[in-house]
Amino acid sequence: AAESGFDAEEVESDLAAAATGPLPVLAVVGRPNVGKSTLVNRIIGRREAVVEDRPGVTRDRVTYEAEWTGRRFKVVDTGGWEQDVLGIQASVAAQAEFAVEAADAVVLVVDATVGVTDADEAVVKLLRRAGKPVVLCANKVDGSSMEAEAAYLWSLGVGEPHPVSALHGRGTGDLLDAVLDALPEAPAETFGATVGGPRRIALIGRPNVGKSSLLNRAAGEERVVVHETAGTTRDPVDELIELGGKTWKFVDTAGIRRRVHLQGGADYYASLRTAAALERAEVAVVLIDVTEPISVQDTRIITMAVDAGRALVIAYNKWDLLDEERRFYLEREIEQELVQVRWAPRVNISARTGRHLEKLVPAVETALAGWESRVPTGKLNAFLGQLVASHPHPLRGGKQPRILFGTQAGTRPPRFVLFASGFLEAGYRRFIERRLREEFGFEGSPIHVSVRVRE
Ligand code: GDP
Ligand code: GDP
Repeated sequence: AAESGFDAEEVESDLAAAATGPLPVLAVVGRPNVGKSTLVNRIIGRREAVVEDRPGVTRDRVTYEAEWTGRRFKVVDTGGWEQDVLGIQASVAAQAEFAVEAADAVVLVVDATVGVTDADEAVVKLLRRAGKPVVLCANKVDGSSMEAEAAYLWSLGVGEPHPVSALHGRGTGDLLDAVLDALPEAPAETFGATVGGPRRIALIGRPNVGKSSLLNRAAGEERVVVHETAGTTRDPVDELIELGGKTWKFVDTAGIRRRVHLQGGADYYASLRTAAALERAEVAVVLIDVTEPISVQDTRIITMAVDAGRALVIAYNKWDLLDEERRFYLEREIEQELVQVRWAPRVNISARTGRHLEKLVPAVETALAGWESRVPTGKLNAFLGQLVASHPHPLRGGKQPRILFGTQAGTRPPRFVLFASGFLEAGYRRFIERRLREEFGFEGSPIHVSVRVRE
């Protein structure tokens, strides 16, 4: 690396940053208008140095990556979700539920200018039951004259209130220090801990696509273990199911079986569920109902899986109901709406008749293999060398940015870092990414390509 002008230490830290294993998850909760979204923006705003280009389906994120003093974690913004749909009580309950299931620690945001309200107390009660570490953020403390009000929040009984102005940045450093103390080094359920154990599948999709039907059919008489207890007070949320001669862990099946009937709020719950399941899974099987047009909700769920960095299989369900005409339109919709995830294995199934269910396991295995695959550095650079020679970057201001070398810094999903002599245009980066797939496959997995530019 030395002769190319890169600082060895910098390179190392970039590689470490790209080699992301599972990261601990922080959920930011609190009643509406206390400043959750402002705080989340402040936390993630610190990390913009890495140029990352993921040609995505439209962005609709719930989880963001953040870094503080060299440690990386994920932040879940519950502030952007449709809080008015459910009313305050139900929305904070849903947030807290998410915090129990998916987060490793929680920041509870309270508006110090308002003081403690019933809604705040309700959140605290739910969080207590969850037993996850809580860091209390006394927000809107824009000046030192407000700090006495912040101290009053000791009365909530969740420990020290950290006075913060999310708007101006005041106190956020101390808050983040406390967050890092509360977060474990790695999430509770690490990939490593289950090596050799059952692989974890999230069965997701919008309401009524057939998730519980598929689950019931898959489980059938073959269900091995109904509950996952592990000596905790947690809900038994997962099921071990034997399919294709192997045992698989379907995560958060309790969420699929426990159907929430709420007027207007079903979508909200569904996206909480989806985010929680994705956090804990290695591979997502997204169900699409072929009898209905592919909707924004479908693509949003697929985007969530891709953004979560999970392996992906798309299962087109209710195939038994498909007629010739609908099939014609379906294929066109897939071509238009799902072109960005063309790399995901596809199965056409019927949870009702059992059609092609035996194809699900091979598809999941293919996706997991793509997700875990690694390209040796020598092979990668031979490929990049040829590519750069045959398709150089367009000239910019008389200069030609060049890719100097690249390496695969991580797997699950594959992550690449390219080192370049100048800024690479987005189009060129997408071209590289496309060629990487053509050359090496990665079927069923998102891939990340970040570019490190020598200043
Ligand atoms: P959320 O509903 O909890 O996500 O709250 P938002 O982040 O949307 O913030 C609600 C309102 O409070 C917005 O008008 C923010 O500008 C304001 N706000 C957030 N943080 C602060 C702060 O630290 N100080 C002040 N004065 N206002 C804030
Ligand atoms: P979920 O909300 O995603 O769990 O969906 P359900 O499993 O509850 O299914 C919703 C409806 O679709 C139910 O009436 C199911 O019987 C029906 N359904 C599910 N899968 C199929 C299928 O493959 N073919 C047909 N014809 N109906 C299905």
